[in-house]
Amino acid sequence: MLTRRQLLRASAAAPILLNRAPQLFAAEYDLVIKGGRVLDAAQRIDRVADVAIRGGKIVAIRPNIASSSAAEVIEAGGKLVTPGLIDIHTHVAEKELTPAQCLSTGVTSQVDGGSRGALNVDELIKVAQNAPNRVRILLNISGRGLADGGTELLDIDKADVPAARRAVERSRDWIVGIKARLSRSVAGEHDLEAVRRARQVADPLKIPIMVHVGDTASPLPGILALLRPGDIVTHMYAPAPHGMLDDNGRVLPQVLDARRRGILFDVGNGRTAHWTWEVAERAIQQGFLPDTISSDLTAAGLTDQVINLPNVLSKFLLLGMPVDQVIARATTNAARAIPELRSYGTLRTGAIADVAVFDLREGDFDFVDNYKTRRTGHRKLVPYAVVMGGKRVNNA
Ligand SMILES: [Zn+2]
Repeated sequence: MLTRRQLLRASAAAPILLNRAPQLFAAEYDLVIKGGRVLDAAQRIDRVADVAIRGGKIVAIRPNIASSSAAEVIEAGGKLVTPGLIDIHTHVAEKELTPAQCLSTGVTSQVDGGSRGALNVDELIKVAQNAPNRVRILLNISGRGLADGGTELLDIDKADVPAARRAVERSRDWIVGIKARLSRSVAGEHDLEAVRRARQVADPLKIPIMVHVGDTASPLPGILALLRPGDIVTHMYAPAPHGMLDDNGRVLPQVLDARRRGILFDVGNGRTAHWTWEVAERAIQQGFLPDTISSDLTAAGLTDQVINLPNVLSKFLLLGMPVDQVIARATTNAARAIPELRSYGTLRTGAIADVAVFDLREGDFDFVDNYKTRRTGHRKLVPYAVVMGGKRVNNA
């Protein structure tokens, strides 16, 4: 019979042996992505290297990590290896567009841009809870959001500040900001009042506001004057009336000043009157590049104009932006734009292993703006493999 002391010693030793045994036989890494061009603006990395993942995290980026040290290998020679994409303006309220579809194109984190408001946001929270990727929400300042037929602020009293504040407080894990859609068709003459009410919700909670601009009742400078550092202007390249350019095609001084103050400018491709090649081109020629590039993807966008975020990113390759800068707008910069997503969008050691692998195809590819004006580009980002939290989620 064992003495009490022997028993204690035996039971103390057992868990250690049990813990160690599996690791003795397991591969050093769960997954290694080999030989791709690794782009991570957060670390100023743009070089061919291998990326090693263990326990759902990035553990190394260096040349020549042996395949034999990995349980699984993705051969990425000739491809781009980037942080999982972050799409800060999407819509996931429709059954026909699922977060899984976005994830399959490299989008490991996405933000719903105001599909629902305080009265019906639980629908969106349910989508986010069941999503295979990371879905967060910008709460529409109007109670029912897009479920109101796209005219949610024509009656400004639908923007109920206490109700919106309570909705955010109830769901801080999911709701990361406030959305206000300001076009005349949505808000009539109430654009500035809608921003003021969004402000009243967002400021005490220290969360950002995203405003949707383009064809607003008020000129853009009046809207920008109500924004604070960290707020986001989506549909930045919306055409006149009340776009970011003056009559001579120059970026308005108030827009330059807003950027200097820390207000962020986002693309939001979408489908109707949100951007033209001409506005984007003129602004970019003057050095006014987007802070973030987002899709504004809806179910209809899956087959019309938007397609997916990598397709939208490819439009900015056509407009002359280098590929590393384009990827930064949907990774590093996007993570910085949404405070709750700040730790994502990078391949830094210790970060959650969200990774996208792309083919950068060469050829002739047609792309369109919101007026279906066609331009032909010669490079296109095509999703090849996606890793979410260290696990490969689709195959090429
Ligand atoms: Zn939208």
